[in-house]
Amino acid sequence: MTIRHPVILLAYSLVILSLLLVVNCSSSEEFSGFSYDPEGVTITTDKEIQPQHKRRIGVNKGSIWISNEFAGARMNDFYQVNDTLYRVLIEPENHPVNNSPWYAFKIWSDSSKTVDLQLTYKHGKHRYIPKLSHDGRNWQRIDSAKVRTDTTAGTATLTLHIDTEPLWVAAQEILTGKKYNQWADSLASKPWVTIDTVGYSHQHRPIYKMLIGQADSSQPQGVVIITGRQHPPEVTGGIASQIFINELASEKPLASQFRKEFEVWAYPLANPDGVQQGHWRHNAGGVDLNRDWINFNQPETQEIRDDLLPLKRDSLRKVYYGIDFHSTDENIFYPINREIDTFPQDFTFQWIDSLKKAFPDYPVDVEAFDTSSPITKNWVYRTFGADGVTYELNDEANRDSLRTVTQQSAHIIMRQLLEEKKKRK
Ligand SMILES: [Zn+2]
Repeated sequence: MTIRHPVILLAYSLVILSLLLVVNCSSSEEFSGFSYDPEGVTITTDKEIQPQHKRRIGVNKGSIWISNEFAGARMNDFYQVNDTLYRVLIEPENHPVNNSPWYAFKIWSDSSKTVDLQLTYKHGKHRYIPKLSHDGRNWQRIDSAKVRTDTTAGTATLTLHIDTEPLWVAAQEILTGKKYNQWADSLASKPWVTIDTVGYSHQHRPIYKMLIGQADSSQPQGVVIITGRQHPPEVTGGIASQIFINELASEKPLASQFRKEFEVWAYPLANPDGVQQGHWRHNAGGVDLNRDWINFNQPETQEIRDDLLPLKRDSLRKVYYGIDFHSTDENIFYPINREIDTFPQDFTFQWIDSLKKAFPDYPVDVEAFDTSSPITKNWVYRTFGADGVTYELNDEANRDSLRTVTQQSAHIIMRQLLEEKKKRK
């Protein structure tokens, strides 16, 4: 098509010009959330939360009982529908909220029986395959023949055998503050591990820092920053963070060589209130902590930031890397876009390549992002110029392979960091 008339030509040019402006404006717009985030996620001032009523409920003339009276529990109501069908209602701490509907409760009956238990959710749809336990310590994923999911209604109906001993039913194995404390205490027996409190959460639970290192304090050393469990249901990320940290703190020769050159500043339980209260996503301020790393409206993010900030002026310490542990519906690493200059350059892509070579059959996705969003990794980059990764484990990852692969990533990352440090000597 040829356009000869000058007025038409002018009109076309204006249309094209305004289109270009629209495109430009939208690309420079402030980050307002990822595709899966609810509206208003980046507004991180306190939002009201609905406290969970802690109680036990008996139905069918007191013959079947359910309870949420334990740490990490989430169960909001319980009804009998008919002779064999019972319904559990699960609600989030507040909403809008991402669809990570955590649940955890105990159920028992006065005599041995088989029941159908329907999990129903307010403001969410069924996501996590139920895990069962008889003691709250050893967990097994439910037999897939015993669960029917209705994706339209967003419910799941479980066939359970119950008796007088409580059966624990939860979205994932329960990993609460107490278990983190036991783990931290066992690591603190090593002379190169120190546990500190950097502040307190909304509900006055301590925010722990684990400091690992054996470097000569008069020599320059690298720093690795580790954060975890900002999102309570992300238990596989929590397990991976502990495995990873265990490797950095181990007696193995690679780890002791690493600790002579590097310190690890780790905050493995960044949202202790959310974990304790069985939240779907938020802290006790009703906020997604991993969207608060620009505004810093929440005590948990402020305290971790304030503990790390002195590293900026520390002439003997240089931040090399940040790792933030999470879980989602796949194993995926989120590096920083290759085009962005980080220190070290290209670090994440290199270690992921080595990991993929070591485990060619292990499914791992990689998706790079720019640094505009208010997440931990981007704050580490903006503050220290350091490279970083959001390390996401599949919710349903096989727990044994999760262990093997995460140990291996710790080894690869330690080796690669030692190489980087050598380059600077
Ligand atoms: Zn997460």
